[in-house]
Amino acid sequence: MKVHNFFAGPAILPQPVINQAAKAMINFEGMNLSILEISHRSKQFEAVMNKAVSLVKELLSLNDDYEVLFLTGGASSQFYFTAMNLLDDGETASYLDTGTWSTKAIAEAKRFGNVEVVASSKDKNFNYIPKNYSVPANSKYLHLTSNNTIYGTQLHQLPATEVPIVCDMSSDIFSRPIDSNKYGLIYCGAQKNMGPAGTTLVIVNKNMLGKVKREIPTMLNYETHIKKNSSFNTPPVYAIYVSMLTMQWVKDNGGLKAMAKRNQAKADLLYGEIDRNPMFVGSAAKEDRSLMNVTFLLKDDSKNDAFLEACAAANCVGVKGHRSVGGFRASIYNAMPIESVEVLVEVMRKFEG
Ligand SMILES: *Cc1c(COP(=O)(O)O)cnc(C)c1O
Repeated sequence: MKVHNFFAGPAILPQPVINQAAKAMINFEGMNLSILEISHRSKQFEAVMNKAVSLVKELLSLNDDYEVLFLTGGASSQFYFTAMNLLDDGETASYLDTGTWSTKAIAEAKRFGNVEVVASSKDKNFNYIPKNYSVPANSKYLHLTSNNTIYGTQLHQLPATEVPIVCDMSSDIFSRPIDSNKYGLIYCGAQKNMGPAGTTLVIVNKNMLGKVKREIPTMLNYETHIKKNSSFNTPPVYAIYVSMLTMQWVKDNGGLKAMAKRNQAKADLLYGEIDRNPMFVGSAAKEDRSLMNVTFLLKDDSKNDAFLEACAAANCVGVKGHRSVGGFRASIYNAMPIESVEVLVEVMRKFEG
């Protein structure tokens, strides 16, 4: 039975990746051992780590200023990691407030320095991306959330600023080409668009580091992990392995340009139906709509349960919206085939009656 997986995260992975990961769980690289029971210092796992790092660099066309780390603690730990490593006492960092995750990032950064919230879309329950704000030139960095997983909004253009950008890309990493040189640091939890839960990707421009005076605990210092190729302590071996396979799948399927094209086609199909079908309305401002998380409402919300039942009958799972928006959310990450989106659109059409 084919299940159409619209969960927001942990989320869909490509079927060939799942198959390969299952094999490695039993017998990894002909070692007659499971990948779960081998040393992270084995040459077989070192090869996985190196491949994962090189795939990140290749997919994003990073230059030699950038270091790539696979850490733990999720994107949520990066909310404090970033400020602790980049922002000194008395210095200012700018933050764009576009939802729950950026609000949490702001709260953590305030522990380490001054935070300037340059704009917020809280006034409309974060259903749009603020524009036309200015970033103080003395900011150490500007923190952005590129895709707001809960609200279904996405940044389609970077603000014009010389200030280095620190970006939470948890839910749209590898979904489209980016201008990587504009970023001082990128982080993401793997479990939305990059792999399984358990590892956190950090991409950092080396020139950003070593500038704060505070003493940083060893494990919370990016430089510790850079020096040891993310193996200062035991890394999350399996999560890194499956992320590596997923990045290889992205590459084999045409890289980020091809992903962007596929993702646009899926989003056009689903938003097209939301806009056509008189029963539904999109929750996010049109120009800021996310290509990853499509949020929408029934105009008559007494029909919500009936719609979810219709989804379930068509084997569409994970469509219930986040509690802070209500309604529905269909997450259509890289690995989601357009056929699954077609099934959901058909459910919406039939629901119209
Ligand atoms: C899910 C999510 C997070 C939190 O990630 P964890 O890995 O669970 O800490 C942060 N930011 C964004 C944009 C997310 O989608």
